[in-house]
This record gives sequence, structure tokens and C-alpha cells, in this order.
Amino acid sequence: MADLDTFRSEVGSWLDANCPEALKGDRTSAIDGVWGGRKWEPTRPEQRTWLERASAQGYTAPTWPKEYGGGGLSPAEAKVLSQEMAARRIPAPLTGFGLSMIGPTLLRFGTEEQKQEHLTKITRGEIRWCQGYSEPGAGSDLAGLQTRAEDDGDHYLINGTKVWTSYADQSDWIFALVRTDPDAKKQEGITFLLIDMDSPGVSVSPILLISGSSPFCETYFKDVRVPKANVVSDVNAGWTVAKALLGHERSMIADAFGGGAGGAKRSLADRARRYLGDAADAPVSDASLRERIAQAELDTRAFLLTVQRAKDAAKAGQQPGPESSIFKVYGTEINQRRAELMVSIAGPSALGWEGPGFEDDELQLTRDWLRTRGNTIEGGTSEVQRNIIAKRVLGLPD
Ligand SMILES: Cc1cc2nc3c(=O)[nH]c(=O)nc-3n(C[C@H](O)[C@H](O)[C@H](O)COP(=O)(O)OP(=O)(O)OC[C@H]3O[C@@H](n4cnc5c(N)ncnc54)[C@H](O)[C@@H]3O)c2cc1C
Repeated sequence: MADLDTFRSEVGSWLDANCPEALKGDRTSAIDGVWGGRKWEPTRPEQRTWLERASAQGYTAPTWPKEYGGGGLSPAEAKVLSQEMAARRIPAPLTGFGLSMIGPTLLRFGTEEQKQEHLTKITRGEIRWCQGYSEPGAGSDLAGLQTRAEDDGDHYLINGTKVWTSYADQSDWIFALVRTDPDAKKQEGITFLLIDMDSPGVSVSPILLISGSSPFCETYFKDVRVPKANVVSDVNAGWTVAKALLGHERSMIADAFGGGAGGAKRSLADRARRYLGDAADAPVSDASLRERIAQAELDTRAFLLTVQRAKDAAKAGQQPGPESSIFKVYGTEINQRRAELMVSIAGPSALGWEGPGFEDDELQLTRDWLRTRGNTIEGGTSEVQRNIIAKRVLGLPD
């Protein structure tokens, strides 16, 4: 305990000295944070300074081993770090699929060469990753994927199309599921492959979302040569790796959205006072609205505490299991509920899209609300999560 207290005071002094003043108080959600990569342009110069200092200290991936660019912190120390950052309202120096999805997967399944090649670049924000799972004919039925990988000596030759690939146009590498054995039972013929997006034959075509802000892409592979050394785990064993990664993805989505990313910069109560209140410190006069706000805040806090418990377990070395489906369903539904409440409180002010007459945070409210529609689809739909919960958590028959 004394050790942790010492660590807390050291970490606090380090944060005070190293996080640029301009970023303190700017705790944006993970979605709006720094995703890094070769194409990244910081919106403020201090973001780069903060990223460089934090990654040199191992604080972009606090619990990863130091040899791979992490901080080598114990779960308890990492929690202290995140508490001290929250207390100062310091934003995460880096976010993205590298840290939340492919990094933990490589730590568990990658070869030593793959870890050496990719992990430090992830912690430094040098390489941005995207996820090539879904295909035009394979979403919920992911194991039905058809992107082919043909044996070509020391390479595979990849042909096929991935769809809904978030940020493929801004990414440097993609982790993808490909079919290496078309004759095997569908889950048994899949391989998990790392592909450099600069490889000849990879092309990307963006698709805009209804919110206008989150580009999806279609990603095409035409005779793309990928070294066999880029297979993660064994050939035809990709389904196990894919499911493990989905556990990380669902926890990440629950975490990112469950805290109320829909208009997170202002609390529900603040907004209700602003649009409907009589005075800044008076209770909101509409009793039924007060009750809905209180219920949403209570549910969010209870949810965040439960997620924190699971995160503590994950930091202690436990991998996310099928329970991550429960978080995914509940976290995304809370986020949608909060966003609905935000727009109903703001009324016509939450119906803007662009132009004068609206404040910036009101325009964002409209877009955040539309963005939440995708939450119960991305990372596996709520119906599919409920199937997983029924089968693998509750043990119900098919
Ligand atoms: C915002 C967002 C970001 C995304 N990012 C990525 C990404 O980066 N990379 C990537 O690979 N994919 C990504 N996706 C794709 C996502 O994983 C798929 O959309 C999702 O898995 C559903 O697949 P589908 O769209 O083909 O729908 P379908 O599988 O066609 O489903 C259609 C409907 O049928 C229901 N359904 C299907 N099967 C069952 C069943 N067995 N039981 C009950 N109901 C069922 C579904 O719940 C859904 O309502 C993203 C999606 C969104 C919305």
C-alpha cells in the first residue's frame, strides 16, 4: 500500500510536469482521441508532444511489457495512473484498434518476431490498424467469409472484398480473416493474417455514415502477396484468434460508449437545466424528465462500476470471455438511451446539421445521436450478442 502511495505521488508529479497544460481538462471520448498512424495530423500540436512523452514513459500501454513499448505496470499501478489522469482531466495520449484489439491479441498469440515488429510501433502511435472481418456476405455469419488466401510458396495470394472497414482509408495495416481451406468446415478453414495496406493490390473506397462523420470503407484485395510470416497463430486456426479479439473489441466498445459518449461534454442534468430549467441551480421542473435523467445516470454509474471490475480482472491477466457480450449489449443500449434523452431535452436545438443558428456542441449532439444508431450493430449486433449470452453464459440449448 505504501508502495502504491509512493507510486501515486510519483505518477502525479510526472503528469503535472509532462502533460501539456493546453490538454488538461480536455478529456474527449476515445472516439475523438488521437489514433496515430502515418497519415495522422494532430488537431493541436500539444497532442504530439503528449503522445511522445507518454509513450517514452510506457504510458500509452501501461500494462504491456516494457520490452514491447509498454509501461510494465501492475494492474494496481495502472489503475492509479488512470485515476490520476482522470483527476486532472488529462486525455488518453493514444487510442485505437492497435492498443485495444490487435496489440493484446499479438501479446497472446503472436510470434516473437511479430511482437518485436508491431507492438512498439503501436505504443508510439506510429502505425494505425483497421479490422478486416466483415464481408458483403458475412457479417453476423462471420465464419461464412469468402476472401481467399491461396498458397504461393512463402506467400499467400489474397483475393476478395471486406466491407464496413472503419477508417481503412486512414490506416497503415489491417488484421484480416481469410479463407485458407475452402473444403474444411467453415470455422476450421479460416486464418488470421496481418496485411500492410501499402501492399500492391490493396484498394479502399470510403462509405459515409448517416452522421456524416465516421467513414466506413470497402477494402478490396486483388492478388495481394502477403508473407506467410504474417499468419497469427496457426494456419486454419484463425477462428480462435478472431473470437479472442472480438472479446477485446466488445469490451472496448462497451467502455467507449457505455460512459455516455453521446454528448459527453455536458451532463444530462446540465443540459436539462440549460434548455428547460428556471435557474442554474434549480431542480429541473418536469418530474418525469427528472426521473428519466436520474435513472439514466444511475444505470450509467452502475454499469461503469461493473465494467471497472471486469477491467481489473482483465489487467490481472484474465482474458475477456463471453461476458463481454453482456457489456456490449448493455453499454451500447445505455449510450443510445442517453443520446435520445439529450436530443429530447434540447428539442429543436438538436435538429441542426450545419450553418448558423446552432452552437457547435448542438450540432455535435445531432451527429452523436445518429452515430449511436450503429452501436448496437458494430462489433456484432445485439441479437447476435444475445445468442452468445444464451448459449455460452446461460448454457441454454440451441
Ligand atoms: C459503426 C460500425 C463500424 C463497423 N466497423 C467494422 C470494422 O471496422 N471492421 C469490420 O470487419 N466490420 C465492421 N462493422 C461491421 C459489423 O461487424 C457488421 O455490420 C455486423 O457484424 C452485422 O453484420 P451485417 O451488417 O452483415 O448484418 P447481418 O448479419 O446481415 O444482420 C442483419 C440483421 O439480422 C440479424 N441476425 C443475423 N443473424 C442472426 C441470428 N443468428 N440470430 C438473430 N438475429 C440475427 C442481425 O442482428 C441484424 O439485425 C462495423 C459496423 C458498424 C455499424
